[in-house]
Amino acid sequence: MNSSRTIHFRPHHFLCTLGFQGKGYSIPFVKNFQNIVEQLNADPDSLIQVTKGLDQICGSCPNKKENNSCDKQTKIERLDKAHQTILGLEENQIISWKEAKRLIKEKMSIEDFHAACEGCEWKVYGVCETALKKLNVV
Ligand code: SF4
Repeated sequence: MNSSRTIHFRPHHFLCTLGFQGKGYSIPFVKNFQNIVEQLNADPDSLIQVTKGLDQICGSCPNKKENNSCDKQTKIERLDKAHQTILGLEENQIISWKEAKRLIKEKMSIEDFHAACEGCEWKVYGVCETALKKLNVV
């Protein structure tokens, strides 16, 4: 596998990426996230490695700290754990974006989404739920 082009995602960022609609913590954060989304949509076979701690989406986040953590560490760890459990992801696992979307479709439900994403400030906008429904998640 070509690891040099492999994207790194912490577990809850698979679903955030599916729902991304240009909202985020800062202009550099949104720009970086947009680039990642465009790359994945242009090539659904792009590889993503499941990672613990900061990832490529966190790269431009104003909340990130030096020690591989962030200002909202407790909340973020809870989100990661919930999404990792639901999707059955292993740390360091490498999957394509196409496979990740299949996993979301197979393993996530709208009810699980609301439980797993409880407390996320972006959930209220409804874009993640809409993206799940577009995948026929019920
Ligand atoms: S509600 Fe928040 S944590 Fe959940 S997928 Fe959307 S942006 Fe990510």
